[in-house]
Amino acid sequence: MAKTALIIGASRGLGLGLATEFAGRGWHVTATARDPAAAPDLAAAASSHDIIIQTVDIDSPESVAALAAATAGQHYDLLFINAGIYGPRHGSADKVTQDDIAALMLTNALAPIRLARSFLPRLNEGGTIAFMTSVLGSVALNTGGTMELYRASKAALNTLSRSFFAQDVGKRRLTVLNLHPGWVKTAMGGPDAQIEIAESVGGLADVVIANTGGGQHYLDYQGNQIPW
Ligand code: NAP
Repeated sequence: MAKTALIIGASRGLGLGLATEFAGRGWHVTATARDPAAAPDLAAAASSHDIIIQTVDIDSPESVAALAAATAGQHYDLLFINAGIYGPRHGSADKVTQDDIAALMLTNALAPIRLARSFLPRLNEGGTIAFMTSVLGSVALNTGGTMELYRASKAALNTLSRSFFAQDVGKRRLTVLNLHPGWVKTAMGGPDAQIEIAESVGGLADVVIANTGGGQHYLDYQGNQIPW
């Protein structure tokens, strides 16, 4: 039977690439956008692949509840929470406004965990919850210091996801993956990034499929372990 995936934040960039990649591998994919009418590339992918489009803004509990209602009865082998933002380009704790830091922490750290908690009962046994984090979320590897706000948001996501794994996943036979996609040519990664979307999502799909034995792992798109 075909595997099922729910990919959150798939209007463009890596999320769109992941939806297309898993559908291309024969998975039944549900892919979300905040505003599907403003996501023509996702609509194009859905017209040629097995992709159902749904709507969610992960920042809004009401929107997450509406997604749960719209997908009621569906169970998934993979929940991939990809949605994320970079925050203010200056990236400085000294300059950031309260609104901007609240938005960054909400979208990148709190909202993914809340969504994972609400969809946990919808994961099939043996399934996977993947959080799109970054190598920049590693506290152990933070010797460079740059991009401190974005780093802090992904470090917060990492530690919240460890609490989620310890407190919520419990004895269920599920795998939790914290994934770094590489430095990728997207709106966020910019044109000078190291790799194309296709290389990143191909690697990420391989990593998801290869790591289903349970536990929580912090890995890059080539399957290399990242220190927390
Ligand atoms: P992107 O092109 O800017 O795409 C970001 C995606 O997240 C868009 O689909 C966007 O939807 C969605 N999104 C943002 N806020 C959302 C919200 N509140 N609710 C639902 N969806 C939301 O960025 P990307 O490079 O593909 O990044 C995807 C993920 O990879 C992010 O978590 C990012 O932090 C992470 N990452 C990227 C890189 C890189 O080099 N690109 C490296 C490390 C980690 P809209 O179209 O509605 O805005």
